[in-house]
Amino acid sequence: MLVTGAGRGIGAAVARLAAARGHDLLLTWRGGEDAAQATAAACREAGAAVELVQADAGDAVATARAFAALDRRFGRLDALVANAGITGPASDFLASTDETWAEVFRVNVLGLASACRHAAARMATGRGGQGGGIVAVSSRAAQIGSAFEFVHYAASKGAVDSLVLGLARELAGEGIRVNAVAPGMIDTDIHASAGIPERIDRIVPNIPLRRMGTPEEVAETILFLLSPASAYVTGAVLPVGGGR
Ligand code: NAD
Repeated sequence: MLVTGAGRGIGAAVARLAAARGHDLLLTWRGGEDAAQATAAACREAGAAVELVQADAGDAVATARAFAALDRRFGRLDALVANAGITGPASDFLASTDETWAEVFRVNVLGLASACRHAAARMATGRGGQGGGIVAVSSRAAQIGSAFEFVHYAASKGAVDSLVLGLARELAGEGIRVNAVAPGMIDTDIHASAGIPERIDRIVPNIPLRRMGTPEEVAETILFLLSPASAYVTGAVLPVGGGR
């Protein structure tokens, strides 16, 4: 299994759960080497073979390098979790800049598409692969729009949902299922990075389950979408948002 952005948060939780369930892992990270090393160590402790590669998910050359490392170490790929993502700075639309839009789309959309292309080329039965599963980490923001703060982010995740729907149809004949999870408010450092921590206090009372989700709860859903238990599910964007 290849997990992008596995240093911390949801990606790290996916890596740890996958290791506990017997998957070997190629993990990519950007920023925070100590956290990435800690995730890798925990996965090895659980018995997984782990390759850790520093790679900016939005950099096509770095992505190709990560997949080449995967080929050398494991020689095959059965699952991709395209998790790496950024919100960009909070800003209403009129104050947002082209630079913010370009950076958020570079990582969240172009980078994710590139990872899916590399993964599908290795999994496709028509190219000698054995099929597999792809799960993209989208966001409930895609359906909500995140007006006044993160329209740039919501729009990038809308593109992810659309990509998943198209790839699910295009790759079904190659033995590849493609799905997404759409997390709501999950308790990770992404909110502090976005620079408006009070946003959590504002939103949580409006979540029907009245709490943030945990990275582990999202990881469980992702592992379900990659398991035989979901063999007839493809093209789904599954909300993991406590009812919001
Ligand atoms: P996080 O900031 O804790 O983790 C994001 C991870 O992605 C980090 O390890 C970071 O280093 C990595 N990353 C960011 N940009 C990268 C890049 N260019 N190349 C490689 N790695 C990169 O946040 P998280 O909450 O764990 O977010 C993971 C995914 O979940 C993201 O796609 C995010 O949009 C999505 N998501 C999160 C929430 C939430 O509430 N936490 C809600 C909806 C969607």
